[in-house]
Amino acid sequence: MMSKITIDYQAEGDIFDIQRFSLNDGPGIRTIVFLKGCPLSCWWCSNPESQRRRPVVMYNAADCVRCRRCESACQRHAVTFMDDGRRHFDYQACTGNGDCAAVCPTGALVMKGRSIRVGELIEILKKDRSTFRHSGGGVTLSGGDPLMQPDFAGELLKACKAQGWNTAIETEGCAETETYLRLVPYIDTILMDIKHMDPEKHRLFTGVSNELILNNARRVSAF
Ligand code: SF4
Ligand code: SF4
Repeated sequence: MMSKITIDYQAEGDIFDIQRFSLNDGPGIRTIVFLKGCPLSCWWCSNPESQRRRPVVMYNAADCVRCRRCESACQRHAVTFMDDGRRHFDYQACTGNGDCAAVCPTGALVMKGRSIRVGELIEILKKDRSTFRHSGGGVTLSGGDPLMQPDFAGELLKACKAQGWNTAIETEGCAETETYLRLVPYIDTILMDIKHMDPEKHRLFTGVSNELILNNARRVSAF
């Protein structure tokens, strides 16, 4: 007899987007939840704001009027302005709490990413449940790589299954093997994007070796 699955609906994670009505990320019509954080730093990455695990602040210089309110608001002194008006930003010092964006009068600063609990996310996803039912679709976790937040992703996948929804993940394959094996029972489709089969080229283009990735692909495909 299967043991009862417990789900932590209070589990909190960081996402940077939700896209509805996707046709290319698993079976049927799907809603994609993009989780923040990526173990790779690919040359061609089109979503660099997704790479950091925490929310990030995006700056559009064209909209900045140099009022320096952001500089005053930042307790971490991550943003400073030079005497000539040029802006300096310290990525390492920034915690992503958004205090600067909150006081920016022009919208030159925009936060990418937000923290959300599993329960809140499930309520948002419920809007698409009839679409899932009629199309054979469901929810796809993407990123970044969703397994950079393994506990949050795991609770979210379990919660989706509890709703009777089809689940998929899009992953670079670079999480701990134990994480894949632990979450596989709650995933209907794994879309693993292996960037290159050659170890040296993989390291060159992404910054990491593909040894773990290829091992994970072998282990997961054996299920
Ligand atoms: S997000 Fe927070 S820590 Fe980062 S620059 Fe803005 S105020 Fe400073
Ligand atoms: S608060 Fe906004 S407009 Fe003012 S200096 Fe900072 S980024 Fe520019």
